[in-house]
Amino acid sequence: MRLVLLGAPGSGKGTQSERLVALLGIPQLSTGDMLRAAVEAGTPVGREVGEAMAGGHLVPDAVVVRLIASRIDAADAGRGFILDGFPRTVRQAEALNLMLAERNIALDTVVELTVDETLLMGRMKQRVEDALAAGREARPDDKPDSFRLRLATYLEQTAPLSAFYAKMGILKLVDGSASSATVSADIAAYLSTIGGDFNARFSDGAPR
Ligand code: AMP
Repeated sequence: MRLVLLGAPGSGKGTQSERLVALLGIPQLSTGDMLRAAVEAGTPVGREVGEAMAGGHLVPDAVVVRLIASRIDAADAGRGFILDGFPRTVRQAEALNLMLAERNIALDTVVELTVDETLLMGRMKQRVEDALAAGREARPDDKPDSFRLRLATYLEQTAPLSAFYAKMGILKLVDGSASSATVSADIAAYLSTIGGDFNARFSDGAPR
């Protein structure tokens, strides 16, 4: 199964991706994780994007498109993948469609987690407080000013992907304001209706 998980920062995308990895046995491809690893390792890409990321800005489309292109060709992505945090702009979505078409594959579905803004801001404040209470540094882009910018950037640049994928006929909206267990159950129930590897995995009673 090849799926995109869409949702604003704080919508629970990361948590749901991890659960889908366990459920579907396919990897989560997170451009945010790849970029943070590059920043930490001080690679040329990391040095190029570090400042933009810390400020809550998007990094250039070309950088993330290159990262994803090399990642979907890795052996572990052969049976499918969960895209988390990519695409984030219509240009990235178009590049992704092209990249998949060149490989004779296509997305099965796009699941969008919908959460209203007040709840997102509240969740983010909690994430910063939890990090501080645990004696950890909060993610620099979770701090209120950066987070507000990430949210505004999402609404302006990423929210249009909803219409883009609705037009392709593969968009599914899931209420992301429920508990994470309920959201997981809703996603799993939906995936079981569209078949793919998910049904194959459970139809014979033995997860593969
Ligand atoms: P995330 O962990 O997905 O919230 O991403 C953290 C940060 O990485 C974002 O605020 C951006 O600066 C950068 N980033 C991650 N994915 C993308 C993308 N697809 N396009 C542009 N910037 C991205």
